Amino acid sequence: SQHNPALTWTQYTKALDHQTRETVNLTTKLRHALQADQLELYYQPQVDLASGRIVSAEALLRWNHPQAGFIPPGKFIPLAEQSQLIGPIGDWVLRRACRDLRAWRDAGLLVTPVSINLSLIQFQLGSVPDKVRQALTDYNIAPEELTLEITESVFEHQGQALKQDLEALTAMGVRLSLDDFGTGYSSLAHLNDYFFDEIKIDKSFVSQLDKGPYAQSIVKAVVVIAAAIGADVVAEGIEWSSHITTVLHLGCTKGQGYHFSRPVPEPRWRQLLFDQKAL
Ligand code: C2E
Ligand code: CA
Ligand code: CA
Ligand code: CA
Repeated sequence: SQHNPALTWTQYTKALDHQTRETVNLTTKLRHALQADQLELYYQPQVDLASGRIVSAEALLRWNHPQAGFIPPGKFIPLAEQSQLIGPIGDWVLRRACRDLRAWRDAGLLVTPVSINLSLIQFQLGSVPDKVRQALTDYNIAPEELTLEITESVFEHQGQALKQDLEALTAMGVRLSLDDFGTGYSSLAHLNDYFFDEIKIDKSFVSQLDKGPYAQSIVKAVVVIAAAIGADVVAEGIEWSSHITTVLHLGCTKGQGYHFSRPVPEPRWRQLLFDQKAL
């Protein structure tokens, strides 16, 4: 049979068109979702592995679309980043987390610090320290109650502005956490350049712990590095009690994962805090 390049090209552009339309559609829907209050923050506990107590929470964004149901952040965050919608969405996340924290405190709950995720694009859009300062002031939150999780990928476009922002945030007293550690690039140099309060071991390492010595060596190395810079270590993706035993043995004291709890809606999170207070 003859190969027909013209036809192939048409098919190709049609397929591309379709994909672009999908992306544009979803981006439009996301913009609407922000205005229509379809975004929600879920909270997942971070646990002191030795005692089992909840010591902090990670806020994770959820989009519950009235027709399509839950659209995973892995799908819509990249769209939000491409369209710069991550600016207003990130502002919403920051303020909602602070608002929730304030509400828990006002309800007399034993409140733990909250971590939120920040995207590189938010730093590129600017004013992150100002926005953080404003949110802390508006909701009367102490800086050390807020942790900002950033992934190593922010350093791929490292610039003077980012450095200044991270330094301003550190000076403000909010905690900085390096997320998905070990999956990105040239991590060690950045650990030396910035002040991180916490390193999160990516769940891909934790899930490999039972499968041989390699992942264990990585976790052990991260614990040593963290100790050297005075940072806490959080092991992500703790799904089995065997993971707890292993990471504790390797010197990691905090963990997060389905074994303890999936991310839960805010009312359920209140209940978790309330139950813990009763202990
Ligand atoms: P992440 O920051 O690494 O968040 C941890 C992800 O691992 C979450 O997925 C969480 O639900 C999941 N997880 C927690 N425990 C376990 C476990 O034991 N096993 C497994 N397999 N997974 C576990 P989620 O909520 O789907 O979020 C995915 C990613 O989307 C996040 O990864 C983060 O990069 C991004 N994201 C979520 N919320 C926000 C946000 O508010 N802003 C920004 N910029 N990104 C966000
Ligand atoms: Ca995170
Ligand atoms: Ca700090
Ligand atoms: Ca992570």
